[in-house]
Amino acid sequence: MRSKKKKIKMSPRCLTFWLGMLINFCPIGQARGSSAILPVQAAHHNNTALHQILEALAASYPKITRLYSIGKSYQGKDLWVLEITRNPGKHTAGKPEFKYLANMHGNEVVGRELLLLLADFLCSNYGRINRITKLIDTTRIHLLPSMNPDGWESSKEGDCTSIRGRFNANGVDLNRNFPDPYDGQRNELQPETRAVMSWIHQEPFVLSANLHGGTLVVNYPFDNLPKELKKVGERIYYSSPDDDIFVKIAKVYSMAHPTMHKGNCFEITLELGCCKYPPAMYIKPYWYANREALLKYIDLVHTTGIRGFIFDRKRRPLEGAKIVIDCRAKKIKTSKDGDFWRLLVPGNYTIRVSKRKYRNINMRVTVNPDQATVLNITLTRKRSFSSFGKGRMSANLTQALDDGPAANLSFHPIVRSHDKLRLSMKNSKGTASRLKNLFCDYRFISCLIIFCLSRLG
Ligand SMILES: [Zn+2]
Repeated sequence: MRSKKKKIKMSPRCLTFWLGMLINFCPIGQARGSSAILPVQAAHHNNTALHQILEALAASYPKITRLYSIGKSYQGKDLWVLEITRNPGKHTAGKPEFKYLANMHGNEVVGRELLLLLADFLCSNYGRINRITKLIDTTRIHLLPSMNPDGWESSKEGDCTSIRGRFNANGVDLNRNFPDPYDGQRNELQPETRAVMSWIHQEPFVLSANLHGGTLVVNYPFDNLPKELKKVGERIYYSSPDDDIFVKIAKVYSMAHPTMHKGNCFEITLELGCCKYPPAMYIKPYWYANREALLKYIDLVHTTGIRGFIFDRKRRPLEGAKIVIDCRAKKIKTSKDGDFWRLLVPGNYTIRVSKRKYRNINMRVTVNPDQATVLNITLTRKRSFSSFGKGRMSANLTQALDDGPAANLSFHPIVRSHDKLRLSMKNSKGTASRLKNLFCDYRFISCLIIFCLSRLG
């Protein structure tokens, strides 16, 4: 009664003052009662709660998060992604993009809860744990806790084995819905699949993983494919000659997991458990068993392979330069900032960098364990063919030799046959003009042959 009296006594002016104070000094998310939502509980969260948690995290940590939707499910639910990085919102040159995707099969819910817990763990430890602060400062992490919110709604807690809730609301297995290079397109592309495909074309993801119910599927590397592949659609699971790196990244995850590495073999799909929708009490043990592995796996974008920039001679970034490692089929391309990443196991490789209208560069590169090798490469523009025969050739040759392949000092270029030709030409004075004469002679002889043939015809 006394408190009621107090409330009545409070003047409207006073009330406005206190309301103002509340708005000014409480972060918006917390003012909305996010303290009831955060910290994230190790439990099952329905689609509304999942969205509320992501909203609360985005509101509580606005400097390192951004909440966005990549599209909608068949039934029109948003597919929410929480981006976690310092200065979120867009790709930063040199900062690798990483993603975790979960709950593609609606009834496989462990990954969905692990990603909510991971999001909270990362955000709440920014500025507290050095390792986490550094990871968030240097990596753009995207978390999609549920790719199949419709399927989730028809699944049931405690159902370890059935397929109830596995498919989207249109009855399609989303895991089999991505265009497959071998089987083609089995079903019409579903809205969830289309959303994920356009998402992975928008960002130059370096590494990602799909968390299935009780399993982890590794995707690597760039989902940034050449145009000709983009036209026919993209397969999300990449199987390739890059088996060595698959084994390595799978191993990193499993070794960081307390029991997983005790199995007999490593495969791309790792068994983390066997129940698709375990009772809520099991979420906490799952989280503690996987937390370190989830973090170590993100670390891989900094600790494995090669990374760097491709520039032109004026230090402008070159987009779309191709990088090929030895004879591996997978080509990667630089993003619009000229940056690239290529995951590789430690060892020696020959890399070839090419771009239309630029001279190719081949070089030997050593990949060390524990730290990605940084490569900054300058490409030199080719001169057009028309400049030949106009007295510019010797200048071209000198320039080509002066440029050399600019690269990190720990690599040495492989001199290819035509580089050797240039070298020998530089060493003999006047060769360029002799070659020019030869070229002119060649043109003259060609004309003569054509003339003779036309007379014969
Ligand atoms: Zn699955």
